[in-house]
Amino acid sequence: MSRIVRIALPLPRPLLFDYLVPAGMNPAVGLCARLPFGRGEKTGVVVAVDPPDAPPADKLKPVLELLEDIPPLPSEWLALTAFAARYYQHPLGEVISAALPPGLRRAVKLPRDDDPWLATTPAGRLALGEAKKITRALAAVLAVQSAGARRRSQLLGDLDGDASGAIREARAKGWLEIVARAGEREPIGALTLNTAQQAAVHAVNDAAGSFRPFLLFGVTGSGKTEVYLHQIAHTLAQGRQALMLVPEIGLTPQLMERVASRFPGANLVSLHSGMADGARSLGFVQALKGEADIVLGTRLSVFVPLPRLGLIVVDEEHDASFKQQDGLRYSARDLAVWRANAEKLPIVLGSATPSLETWQHAEAGRYTRLDLPLPAVADKPPSLRRIDTRRVKLDHGLSPGLIEGIRTRLARGEQSLVFLNRRGYAPVIACPQCNWVSACPHCSANMVFHAADRALRCHHCGHEGRVPHICPGCGNQDLHAFGRGTQRLEERLGEHFPEARIERVDRDAVRTPAQWEAVRARIEAREIDILVGTQMLAKGHDFPMLTLVGIVGADAGLYAADFRAPERLFQQLMQVAGRSGRGELPGEVLVQTEFPEHPLYEHLARRDYPGFAKRELAERKMAGFPPWGYHAVLRAEAPELDAAIAWLNTARAVAESLQSPVMLYDVVPMRLVRRARLERAQLVLESDNRPGLQATLAALMPLLYALKCPRELRWHIDVDPGEL
Ligand code: ADP
Ligand code: ZN
Ligand code: ZN
Repeated sequence: MSRIVRIALPLPRPLLFDYLVPAGMNPAVGLCARLPFGRGEKTGVVVAVDPPDAPPADKLKPVLELLEDIPPLPSEWLALTAFAARYYQHPLGEVISAALPPGLRRAVKLPRDDDPWLATTPAGRLALGEAKKITRALAAVLAVQSAGARRRSQLLGDLDGDASGAIREARAKGWLEIVARAGEREPIGALTLNTAQQAAVHAVNDAAGSFRPFLLFGVTGSGKTEVYLHQIAHTLAQGRQALMLVPEIGLTPQLMERVASRFPGANLVSLHSGMADGARSLGFVQALKGEADIVLGTRLSVFVPLPRLGLIVVDEEHDASFKQQDGLRYSARDLAVWRANAEKLPIVLGSATPSLETWQHAEAGRYTRLDLPLPAVADKPPSLRRIDTRRVKLDHGLSPGLIEGIRTRLARGEQSLVFLNRRGYAPVIACPQCNWVSACPHCSANMVFHAADRALRCHHCGHEGRVPHICPGCGNQDLHAFGRGTQRLEERLGEHFPEARIERVDRDAVRTPAQWEAVRARIEAREIDILVGTQMLAKGHDFPMLTLVGIVGADAGLYAADFRAPERLFQQLMQVAGRSGRGELPGEVLVQTEFPEHPLYEHLARRDYPGFAKRELAERKMAGFPPWGYHAVLRAEAPELDAAIAWLNTARAVAESLQSPVMLYDVVPMRLVRRARLERAQLVLESDNRPGLQATLAALMPLLYALKCPRELRWHIDVDPGEL
């Protein structure tokens, strides 16, 4: 009897396809398969074997290849992807494809398993110490050094671009050597936990084998990571695997090193989207085969199959990078909770400033809150002072008070950090005579001025242009850069403090973990006096000589149109404020604001997250925003706004005909209407309960797929959107 497989293929429609299995192949659910499709080939995953409702075999095309050398994806994995498809209203084949590493997605052969462990040699350490400049080969040495030892494939993923040449060079120079396994270096011993940490570790350890969500609530430095490490140790000791998700900027060499050196014999796999395809596939398959003990990665790691999974940790669970913003628009944190429930595991969500959704779960008793107060010795919160910018004259955005503060620190040999809340503060080129601005030709946004290469760049579509010599509007030769970008601030500070060593830290200046590592080393070595930067600086690093944090441009987050803006602002400011006074010296935070009495700043001054959350949750409740209301956004984009709006209005009429209790907003143009030559509009659906929204969406989607859709129009649905 001929056998048939049902396959999920990456196509923009929720369809499954049946294929014939040629003799000699052994079909199984979860295997990847290469198939003929249309005039080409595609790769998909077997979701059923011999489905009872399959059409007659003579109507089907045969499978080209089953990738039997990779174990089939386990049923828990298929259940997770099926849930994501259902919940986010996304075709299963595309979900599966997004959940697979790019290599498996295309069914390319895995890289040869010539994947040695590399460690730095004494010569390599010497070269690092003496280097004036970090070359690519030295960057490889640095990355290995900070991890203790690294598999070649993983190291390739740590570095930018194709680093195989750099690794070869480092080996030829005798800086890197092949070692037997990771466990060649000294394990760094576990610390003796304080009482609160012990309680947190015990609570989670006791929950092993059952679904229990925990919120680990503690500021940076309160010892959360130490708690995770103890919980992971307990998990590994039981022969289980641990999955730890961190935000994009949280996957630092220091964290890798800390985890790797704590578990020298364990197979640690790290995964993030910047890794080379081969390395990602290898890590994924090692996890699938049960060879990985710990998976440490960014949001996409939530989809790593782990047959012995015992614990999930989500660090900085409030971080916006856990939500994917295109394609399958999933929340890795929410999927992690679902996965913990489905696989009966404890899950630990850690944060100093939890998302209001998570906070409310804890308040309602659905999550167990574990508090980590700062140990008494370290509890010297920085004093927070508000500078009322309505009463002082600003010099390019800098108040006299802030400039004075920096001057004092310089005189004392201490460090300062000027933090710029970037929202709405990127510099643009404009003409003061005719009001011409450097608008992007493809978007309803202005292009941002980059002083380093005197270029204009659109941050939404990537369009690039040169700065004009004369105003295109009126011929005026005196064009100005407006807005307080980090580059502008850096320049201005340089004029004030010509003797100071100033360093800018933003996504333009610091692009890679290795670059960030180098900056960090220079801060620690006190080679930098003033840091200027954006949220990159916020993540927990201890700089004992940093005693002043100045915050510029924060008000933009108070009254933004986006309902999550205050939450994000508070989270960000708590994090940057925590950068100062981490050592022996007391810290000070200066917030420049036009709204010094705003409650958000009051709560911030007292480091009172619970108070802030209470107030913000009350406001959200009145407005019907999450966690009291549930949303999905249907977005459409087309060359003409009218076409997008017309399609959405049709969709709205279809939704109305369902007569569900879900509320339909009016179709409106999006705030950033034009992006990359396309004009965009949206329709918000709102419900006071999640199942209600889900039921409506499930009924609506097939009708939307059936709608006539102009060829140049694209639409998608975003469930639990990051913003409305
Ligand atoms: P978080 O993840 O909350 O920022 P960490 O776990 O990184 O906190 O701890 C902050 C610092 O305190 C680290 O340098 C860590 O080594 C140290 N630390 C944490 N727990 C303890 C402990 N129980 N005893 C001594 N030092 C600790
Ligand atoms: Zn653009
Ligand atoms: Zn002009």
